[in-house]
Amino acid sequence: MGEAFQKSIELLSNKLNTPKNISIIPHKDPDGDALGSCMGLALFLQNKNHNVSIISPNDFPDFLAWIAKDNKSISLIKYNEKPKEAEEILRKTDLIFTLDFNSLGRAGDLKEILKESTASKIMIDHHESPDDYAEIMFSYPKIASTCEIVYDVITSLEAKCLTKNIATCLYAGIMTDTGSFRFEATTSKTHKIVATLKEFDIESHKIHQRIFDSFTVGRMKLLGKALSNMQYLNEYNTTLITLTQEELDSTNFQKGYTEGFVNYGLSLKGIKFAVIMIENKKEGIIKISFRSKGEFSVDVFAKTYFNGGGHKNAAGGSSKETLKETEKKFKEVLPLYKKQLCTQ
Ligand code: 5GP
Ligand code: MN
Repeated sequence: MGEAFQKSIELLSNKLNTPKNISIIPHKDPDGDALGSCMGLALFLQNKNHNVSIISPNDFPDFLAWIAKDNKSISLIKYNEKPKEAEEILRKTDLIFTLDFNSLGRAGDLKEILKESTASKIMIDHHESPDDYAEIMFSYPKIASTCEIVYDVITSLEAKCLTKNIATCLYAGIMTDTGSFRFEATTSKTHKIVATLKEFDIESHKIHQRIFDSFTVGRMKLLGKALSNMQYLNEYNTTLITLTQEELDSTNFQKGYTEGFVNYGLSLKGIKFAVIMIENKKEGIIKISFRSKGEFSVDVFAKTYFNGGGHKNAAGGSSKETLKETEKKFKEVLPLYKKQLCTQ
């Protein structure tokens, strides 16, 4: 971490000199990295006598619920469930940390409140192309997870700040965002951080079990459906999965059921680009996840065609058209990338 990081640490350290009211916000539909980084940071700040709340724009999957349940000392409010309470906290807040996103649009229905708030904003994030809303920025798109940046931030603020609970939360985020330490962005530093976290007696095998070995029969059946729907666009080294609302409903669908499904497309030999399109009738959108291997940037692809973004090898987006139209649009633009997808 360089000079800009040290400067940001100094600025942040000054702000944390006296006890503050602090709100920490993950992105909408928080994943393991978003929730793990928020909770890890919240525990650190609470130990330093700040008054901390996490305000999530909306619900998160069952397999992440333990992050909240194991840390009941931290108030965690879902804005979709208790908007008044969340607004009251945000009105009184001195500092707002936005974690694992870099554009207020990613905060869902909290977007306008955050935009209008005069509290100092601190961004901690690892996505490409950050917006300019934060007074203090820790924006490092090359780092595999926000949890690794939070680790650097808190240990720079106070060398001996880690506890078992903080380490557990950060481990969960690093593990999920690195695909269990296998994605390209995983570095020796990632492993060094994890080695340090492990010294706090964290039960990494149990964290893995809680997150990955928690399928319900319905979810497993939905995975079966997704795999049988997979289209093999061999000409482009690409796979596409689609799931209709009807297919989701036939399996007692719950939030998070489709998490990780897109990766199965990438596990096929030779595949460089994997896509899943999921119909969401309630929101009137098709939610799309993109994954790639190598130099093909799904961040750019998602930004160009599907109102999204993310990282080079993992991005998301959405479409307001029907599933069929979205699929058609995708197949129309895919040939433009044939060279990129077939010559690496
Ligand atoms: P996922 O496909 O797992 O939902 O997301 C993959 C990556 O892309 C994550 O880092 C996530 O934050 C980002 N992402 C997902 N959906 C969107 C979106 O609609 N817009 C932007 N800008 N990023 C997204
Ligand atoms: Mn992340």
